[in-house]
Formats: sequence, structure tokens, C-alpha cells
Amino acid sequence: MQEARGMSATAAPLQRVEQRRAIILTIVFFIFGLSVILSFDFGETPPGFRPDAGTTIVFGGLVAGIIYAATRQTPRGQRMCPACGRAIPMDSLLCPHCGLRLP
Ligand SMILES: [Zn+2]
Repeated sequence: MQEARGMSATAAPLQRVEQRRAIILTIVFFIFGLSVILSFDFGETPPGFRPDAGTTIVFGGLVAGIIYAATRQTPRGQRMCPACGRAIPMDSLLCPHCGLRLP
């Protein structure tokens, strides 16, 4: 019995990048969702958005956007493919995702 150990070794770093992206997106959506919930007044009858709901939601969206932009940076030792925008190893000649020839 032979295990495909080589394959899992090359797939692991890429999977980690994908996982990190998923975590960041979850946090960003959570912050934006929280700003919407916080701008909603449940104590009122009937329940409705606060008068300053717009400001809160815009602020929440801004914070979420800043976090997303700050964490979007390419991980160390990697760069972005100009065609598909995914992280690829610094020394690769071909994009492993879309097959683009890199300069
Ligand atoms: Zn690509």
C-alpha cells in the first residue's frame, strides 16, 4: 500500500490560504450583520430601525471593509495571479489554478 504523501504536502499550504479567506469573510459578514442588528431597536413598538440606523450600518460596513482590505494582502512567499487573482507560489512559472504563464 502506497500513500499519496507528496500530493497532500503540496495541497496543504493552498488549503490553508482558502481556509483563512473563509474565516476572514465570516468575520467581515459578522461585523456587518452586527451593525445591522445594533441599529435595529427591538424595544420599540412596533420594532424598527433607529433614526441613526444608516450611520451605524455605514460605519459597520466601513469597518468590515477595512478589515477585509487589511487581511486581503498576499501571504508571505506568495503573489497574486494577474488572471484569476488567487495566491500562487513566488517561484512558480505557471498558475496552478488557471494555467497562466507568469513572467
Ligand atoms: Zn491564475
